[in-house]
Amino acid sequence: MSTRKGNLTIYNSLTGKKEKFEPLINGFVGLYVCGPTVYSHVHLGNCRTFISFDMVYRYLKHLGYKIRYVRNITDAGHLENDAEEGEDKIAKKARLEQIEPMEVVQQYTINFHEVLGRFNNLPPNIEPTATGHIIEQIEMVKKIMQEGLAYEANGSVYFDVEKYNETDNYGILSKRKIEDLVSGTRELDGQDEKKSPLDFALWKNAAPQHIMKWPSPWGVGFPGWHLECSVMSTKYLGEQFDIHGGGMDLKFPHHECEIAQGTAATGKKPVRYWMHANMLTLNGKKMSKSTGNTLLPEALFSGNNQAIGKAFHPIVVRFFMMQAHYTSTLDFSAEALDAAEKGFHRLSEAIEMLEDLSVQQSSSIDVQKLIDSFYAAMDDDFNTPVLIARLFDASKFIQNVKAGKAQLGLEDFKSLKAKMNAFFFDVLGLQKIDQDEDDSLGTVMELVLSMRQKARNNQDWDTADSIRDKLQEANIKVKDGSDGATWSKN
Ligand code: AMP
Ligand code: ZN
Repeated sequence: MSTRKGNLTIYNSLTGKKEKFEPLINGFVGLYVCGPTVYSHVHLGNCRTFISFDMVYRYLKHLGYKIRYVRNITDAGHLENDAEEGEDKIAKKARLEQIEPMEVVQQYTINFHEVLGRFNNLPPNIEPTATGHIIEQIEMVKKIMQEGLAYEANGSVYFDVEKYNETDNYGILSKRKIEDLVSGTRELDGQDEKKSPLDFALWKNAAPQHIMKWPSPWGVGFPGWHLECSVMSTKYLGEQFDIHGGGMDLKFPHHECEIAQGTAATGKKPVRYWMHANMLTLNGKKMSKSTGNTLLPEALFSGNNQAIGKAFHPIVVRFFMMQAHYTSTLDFSAEALDAAEKGFHRLSEAIEMLEDLSVQQSSSIDVQKLIDSFYAAMDDDFNTPVLIARLFDASKFIQNVKAGKAQLGLEDFKSLKAKMNAFFFDVLGLQKIDQDEDDSLGTVMELVLSMRQKARNNQDWDTADSIRDKLQEANIKVKDGSDGATWSKN
């Protein structure tokens, strides 16, 4: 294990600057990442954020830190729009599918884990759920009320943003001014129980038809969706911890509210470094469940989609994402993925070549400097595109050594091999993939699924089902969806 701690800098969204990373407790890192709302399949945009933080986790690990990585599952209290109106997203899905909300939660939590597993993401150390922490959420509401920064109205409890802002700064993270926020929101309509339109719910009174609800000192209700992250991060990482991450779109209001809640409850700013991953776009627009501009990972892996129209291996997709800095937007297109695929195979070949490279007395280049450049890239706010460029430099050198055009000494060979492997497999989270097997399987599956579709069109259910069952025996799972069937290897 490396012990190169101490040079890492992180772009802190709170200060808007790159800062030297200094954990609160020497050698230990508390990392919290907002998890998914499990009411539908995760799309590739969601995956990008989770893959970005997997890379952050992996590099911190590689540097030798001991990390507690917490990522929640939002399984309650997330209403259809941020204005705290509409139906609970999970309950709505349950109603439409005529199943229990917890069946919805289970189904999409499994899908989330499966998908991230295919991208070779490491699991977090703790994956707490909102519904498993209702008591703690009620306790935090009580604390904020005791501090005089929340009030009850008709069985709901709201955070008093303007009162908080008298002595603190609501807008500290998103750099918004409270006056602008107020003028940007609609007027209260008299029916409204909030004192100010900026106030957000800590606890919501549940209407009789609301399914996911719990008793509380204010009546039967459910927690506001910003609260769970404050509660679970505090419970598992303490009142103050090192890094909090999430997608850029969570900065406001979600993370702004988290800062206000934590500060109100404990008197301390909860997080030292706020990190935000930028958005994955498709056709130049943010990938988003609500607008329908999405691509599901399964559809990309099988090639069964209109947007890209070709199958890509999850590890190639991961590599593609790593070729952009996590703070830049990234657009998905077949051309860009094709280029990434070629690059990935070139790099993999160099990793392969390192296995049996013949060594000489000494090296013709400064190998240590090359290795230092890997660290320099990652220490500069996890700059994976620069790291990959340096790994390509190394591959060129390896090819030259192989061709007898450059020399590599034994000690340098050992350290280059160890570091190339560490950055390729451990830090970037890449894997070797069998290119030939993958390409031909994709082609065969396309054929098999189109034959099955023909059988279905002819209402020949026996043939269609037997194809699916036979594939299942071969550990290939077929899923029928509204825009055709997709497949995945178990
Ligand atoms: P959600 O389940 O909607 O709360 O989203 C889970 C995570 O995915 C959050 O961190 C979001 O910020 C992130 N996210 C949503 N859309 C995108 C996107 N198009 N690109 C990158 N991250 C996204
Ligand atoms: Zn959160």
